[in-house]
Amino acid sequence: MKVILHGTRGAYPTSTPANQKYGGDTPCIEVVHEDERLIIDAGTGIIGIDFDKYDPKKRLDILLTHLHMDHIQGLGFCKPLFDPNREIHIWGPGGSIYPLQTRLTRFLSPPLFPVILRDIPSQPKIHELGRSKIEIGSFKVSSAFIIHPGPTLGYRIACGGKTLTYIPDHEPMIGQLELYKEDQWISGFDLAFETDLLIHDSQYESDEYMKKIGWGHSSMQICSEFASRTKTGRLIFFHHDPAHDDDYRTKAFESFMAKNSFDFPIELAVQGKEIEV
Ligand SMILES: [Zn+2]
Ligand SMILES: [Zn+2]
Repeated sequence: MKVILHGTRGAYPTSTPANQKYGGDTPCIEVVHEDERLIIDAGTGIIGIDFDKYDPKKRLDILLTHLHMDHIQGLGFCKPLFDPNREIHIWGPGGSIYPLQTRLTRFLSPPLFPVILRDIPSQPKIHELGRSKIEIGSFKVSSAFIIHPGPTLGYRIACGGKTLTYIPDHEPMIGQLELYKEDQWISGFDLAFETDLLIHDSQYESDEYMKKIGWGHSSMQICSEFASRTKTGRLIFFHHDPAHDDDYRTKAFESFMAKNSFDFPIELAVQGKEIEV
C-alpha cells in the first residue's frame, strides 16, 4: 500500500512562499494498491491529482472525514465529478439531524457553488458511515466517530497485511490535559491500535493547546502520546496551522523532538510525499 499526501494544511489553503515546503493545500490523501486507489478528504489537495492517468472505467471512491470547509473545498473542482460516464461514490459521516446528502448540498449549491450536487454529471452516489466496516476492492475500511466539532470520522485502511490510520482533525480527550488512563475512553483508540502508519492532527505546540482546549485539535505532544498508547509504527504530524510558516513549524518540531523521545519515527507531513506502508 502506498499513501500520497496531496494536501497537509489545516483550516484554509495558503499560497505564501513561506508555506510551500510542507505545502499550502488542505487535506487530501490518496491510498494506492496496485491499480486500485481511494481518496480520503477533498480539501484543495484533491484539485492537483492527475485523474487523467486513472482508468476512467474504474469507479472512484472519495471518503470524507467531516464537512469542515478545509476537507471539502476541493470537491466541486474534482474533474471526474463532471464526467457523466464515471462511477463515483462519496462516503462520509451521517449527521444526527440532516443526512449527508443534504449537508453536502449546502456547500454544493448556489450561492456557494454554481452547480447543485444532484445536477453534477457523474451523479455521485452518497453513502453514510458511522462505526462501520466496509470493503472497497482490496481495501478493508473501518470508520468510527472521533472527537471533533460536528460529526467526524477517523479511518483505518487495511490492505496487503498493512494498516494506515488517518485522523486529521482530532482531540483524543476533552476537558483534561492527559490521555485517559483507560484505553477505551480515548477517542480513536481502536482505529489507531497497532497501526503501521498514523497520519494525525498535530496542529499546536503545547502552550498554544492550553489556549485552545476543546477546539478539536491536538498538540504535537498529545498526538505523540496518542501514537505511543496505540502502539503506532510510524507517525506523521498532519494538519499544519496555516498561520505558522514552514520555518516556524520546523523549529517547533525540532524543539519538540529534542525534548522528547519515542520508540517510533515521527515526521512532518510534506505535500506531494509518497510513503510506502
Ligand atoms: Zn481540518
Ligand atoms: Zn475540522
